[in-house]
Amino acid sequence: MGKEKVMQKNEELSLTIHDLHANGHGVGKGTSGIAVFVPEALPGDKLRVKILKVKKQYAYGKIIEVIQPSPERLPKNDEGICQVAGQCGGCQFQRYQYSAQLAFKEKCVKDALVRIGNCENPPMASILGMDKPYHYRNKAQFPVGSEKGKPIIGFYAPRSHRIVPTSDCNIQHPVCAEILHTVKNLLEQYPISIYNEETHQGLLRHIVVRVGFNTGEVMVIFVLNGSMLPHAKNIKAALPDYTLVINENTAKTNVILGPAFTTLQGSGYIHEELGNIRYRISPGAFFQVNPVQTKVMYDVVAAHLNGGENVIDAYSGIGGIALYVAGKAKNVIAVESVEAAVNDGIYNAVLNNIDNVRFSCGTAEELVPDLLNQGESPDVLILDPPRKGCDGRLPEAAIAAQIPKIIYVSCDPATLARDVKQFTEAGYKLKEVQPVDLFPMTGHVETVVLLEREKALSFS
Ligand code: SAH
Repeated sequence: MGKEKVMQKNEELSLTIHDLHANGHGVGKGTSGIAVFVPEALPGDKLRVKILKVKKQYAYGKIIEVIQPSPERLPKNDEGICQVAGQCGGCQFQRYQYSAQLAFKEKCVKDALVRIGNCENPPMASILGMDKPYHYRNKAQFPVGSEKGKPIIGFYAPRSHRIVPTSDCNIQHPVCAEILHTVKNLLEQYPISIYNEETHQGLLRHIVVRVGFNTGEVMVIFVLNGSMLPHAKNIKAALPDYTLVINENTAKTNVILGPAFTTLQGSGYIHEELGNIRYRISPGAFFQVNPVQTKVMYDVVAAHLNGGENVIDAYSGIGGIALYVAGKAKNVIAVESVEAAVNDGIYNAVLNNIDNVRFSCGTAEELVPDLLNQGESPDVLILDPPRKGCDGRLPEAAIAAQIPKIIYVSCDPATLARDVKQFTEAGYKLKEVQPVDLFPMTGHVETVVLLEREKALSFS
């Protein structure tokens, strides 16, 4: 005791990376076998690492030198690698071969279901990846700042609010590069005060770009610490083809968008088309960020319906899934807590001449049990909650009502596994696990699981 060598902050050591943690960091064994997490490190890398932080059970380090690269590390000059890879906090896997990214994500989902979900042998289907895993995002949120008195636009560095200036982004729609260029020129020509987080002074906070991939419609949102955009005439003239929106966010917060939107030019909306469905998207509404893979994912969900079922789609957003599966279902009740999203959903049902989807506004954990108590008896419950997963009251009510089929769509394997366990412990069987890569170059993964009630449950 006491003699054992302990790792020190600032110490440098050689490290072989043997695994990737679910957070996307490489993991190696440091002094005394403690785990060292290294951002941007890949399994198979032999590295020179500097220790930045030491805790009891683990440490954090950064790469000083790649002594021998992992066979899955892309060559330095690979043209797919972003100019700001490693500096920008958006992507963790720019240098990781895409096939290895996919294998990693599949393993994350499986491990979570085994460890947290208590599933012995999850029925995994191979992950569905992209043919071209670049420029897939339809929404970019660029912070605006200033450096040496000049405006800069980019992305935040990892775990920080330091802006890494960016002229292009490998995972955003190519139109973003053009918009960044134009906005930067505008800011140089027509000075607009830039927001400063520390002093809460200045006007322009963020530029948000949203794109309809299949319609070509583009929206640029100017997020302001105020309501008036100076030089609006010049800005409209420089971006004539796009819908322009002002978002007023005067709060001292990290939340990007404030509550109030004003249209400056164009319709104030964009549309996207997936399969036969056309969606109108308001500036503040949630829409999946990867439209190509969203269609793949919605097709997986739709394939789990036999046809003619009564469906509840909980956490429905603007009705993405509800409207997509409406043609196959008898009736769909879509439940969503954000009123603006519900209004978009109702509008979208009309836009698509769909009359068998009904929207209900409220929390899924309160409204779904209410619907079940009022005598609704759905054949299928679709769940697509945010990262924190479902409030336990919702699975509880679904189990008590003996809903035969649950289709759970998740963007977080850990909370998915927790909620799956609640169902399997109550007699549901995990029938299929289908990971879908909605977020290439990052550690995130989407999963669709199918659960079916095995036997009639007795409540004695
Ligand atoms: N299924 C949709 C949206 C999924 S995102 C799609 O494919 O586009 C999750 C949605 O759940 C968001 O729209 C969010 O507003 C909503 N939400 C978050 N918490 C909720 C709750 N407790 N009850 C109902 N909806 C909720």
